[in-house]
Amino acid sequence: MVCSRCNSTNIVKVKGGSFFSSKICDHIWIEDITHKRCKDCDLISIDFKEAVRVSEKIQQIHDQLILKLPIGGFISPQQAAEILGISVSTLKRTKGIIKVRRGMMFLYDKISVAKYKDTGDGYYFILNRTVKDRVKIEF
Ligand SMILES: [Zn+2]
Repeated sequence: MVCSRCNSTNIVKVKGGSFFSSKICDHIWIEDITHKRCKDCDLISIDFKEAVRVSEKIQQIHDQLILKLPIGGFISPQQAAEILGISVSTLKRTKGIIKVRRGMMFLYDKISVAKYKDTGDGYYFILNRTVKDRVKIEF
């Protein structure tokens, strides 16, 4: 294996945790990420498969955090579409609104819908703190 920055072959495999910034809470800590580090220029690289695994883990944490929100803060797709002045089918294709699956349909976070209407970005910090082991998240 050759470093893509300095062409060194002095590369080690490292396993460790890292913080990731998040759309819905300050930071998320992910453990056991495998990456490679060039011992000559300190370039860190992560392969695509590992990046996908990390991304899926962040999504799982997001889903669990959203599920902890009180159900009374969610509205139906019809209500959300009406607030936004769009059809339900357009709403279903819209990204950037916090939603949760309940049975066969998604429910939309009221605050997120209002924020999306105002700014075009419905994400906000639902948990204004770092998610590490202070919040117990089970997989
Ligand atoms: Zn290097």
